[in-house]
Amino acid sequence: MRQYDALYIDGKWVAPQEPAFVDVLGAADAAAIGRIPRGGTADVDAAVRAARAAFDGWAAVPPAERGAVLAALHRALEARAEDLAVTIAQEVGTPLKMSRRVQVGAPLAVLASYAEMAADFPWRRRVGTSLVVREPAGVVGAITPWNYPLHQVVAKIGAALAAGCTVVLKPADDAPLSVFMLMEAAHEAGVPAGVLNVVTGSGPVVGEAIAAHPGVDMVSFTGSTRAGRRVAELAAGTVKKVSLELGGKSANVILDDADLERAVRTGVNNAFLNSGQTCSAWTRMLVPRPMQEEALEIAVRAAERLTLGHPLEESTRLGPLASARQRDTVVEYIRIGIAEGARPVCGGPETPPGPGYYVRPTIFADVRPDMRIAREEIFGPVLSVLPYDGEEEAVRIANDSDYGLHGAVWSADVDRALRVAGRLRTGQVDVNGAAWNPLAPFGGYKRSGVGRELGEAGLEEFCEIKSIQM
Ligand code: NAD
Repeated sequence: MRQYDALYIDGKWVAPQEPAFVDVLGAADAAAIGRIPRGGTADVDAAVRAARAAFDGWAAVPPAERGAVLAALHRALEARAEDLAVTIAQEVGTPLKMSRRVQVGAPLAVLASYAEMAADFPWRRRVGTSLVVREPAGVVGAITPWNYPLHQVVAKIGAALAAGCTVVLKPADDAPLSVFMLMEAAHEAGVPAGVLNVVTGSGPVVGEAIAAHPGVDMVSFTGSTRAGRRVAELAAGTVKKVSLELGGKSANVILDDADLERAVRTGVNNAFLNSGQTCSAWTRMLVPRPMQEEALEIAVRAAERLTLGHPLEESTRLGPLASARQRDTVVEYIRIGIAEGARPVCGGPETPPGPGYYVRPTIFADVRPDMRIAREEIFGPVLSVLPYDGEEEAVRIANDSDYGLHGAVWSADVDRALRVAGRLRTGQVDVNGAAWNPLAPFGGYKRSGVGRELGEAGLEEFCEIKSIQM
């Protein structure tokens, strides 16, 4: 049981101004694994005051020294890596092996990239007679979701701190424990008081207070399109800079000359990563119509290999969903898919008996682009296979979405794959299963968001630009 009774404000652990607490439940058995404070608007005020007071000092620290502080934070976090992996496996339900690699390994890689980039970033450039200078955007309000609870936070604070910003962070209530561990690491690493502040609490209270606060210069939000829209509305009141990382319904476009076995197997694993609770998951698999049945056979075999089980068991490949609410939504979508006339080829709405929020990996065939299961983000282990006729139609279906976060193209001809990738209205595309790159800008077209995280583009996001004419 990890019990936290205090918020982290101005370099100290302080009790919330109104004492209220909430239990954190384990995904595998719904038993309490922790407790955190439920902050309110007065706590947001205190955190913003601390962040404002710290801003001038932190902004004036030379970038290479800011990078050195991030490197110290990286070391302190790395020392806690196994503890973090176990904690996130318990709260989110990610199988431990995957939790080590993705939930902890990815944020460590991102933090290392910003520790290094702070020194090398082109803060000043000559453009004709001007000196163009990148300066920190100011006090940043960061609001994050529960699905990759440490990674979403580190993607923001790594870049924000490198840029010279100070931060008031509100993580999600469902999986907040790693963020408290991160603050312990930050304290140990010597992040100066007020540079990083955490106020836990509900979205409508703490999240909205941050988004509307006149003392906050920029809001960086990751979460649902619904809440992101609300954050942008509130931020407009004081004309804040806004960056939004929202939902997705990404297309995995398998062309007729692709290595079908590899494309489908990788596609299934991608769609079901973290039990499908991944914003960038390829939840629509587009296959040439004559190849659908062969693709389904491969897909079902791949899904059968995903042993459902307790996240801390080494044999588990697919864990439970993160909450009862999430499980219920996903089961409802499986029912919707059946009612819409899609053909389930594995899984289904019946959930395994016992505690925990388990849903069986479910694949639908003969999905049409107008079906809700092809259009709406489900955020669970549900894959829609859509047959298409010809490359033109594949591109049209892939782009026929409100979202545009991620995607994939498979072809034996890399030039052809690149041509198709260039036509997809989406922020990232992987060709032939290429690996994740922590330096590649990540973010969405259309309703998947505004702005980019990771790499240089992610750092730019937390900067204002000043032109000095000489
Ligand atoms: P959510 O929008 O419900 O919550 C995200 C965060 O916003 C939480 O901290 C929540 O408390 C807060 N929040 C909720 N309502 C708010 C409001 N009115 N004002 C201010 N803050 C508010 O999303 P979730 O269920 O936690 O996460 C799942 C969603 O996040 C999915 O849609 C997923 O696609 C998206 N996501 C996107 C990315 C990305 O990088 N694009 C990454 C991960 C998750």
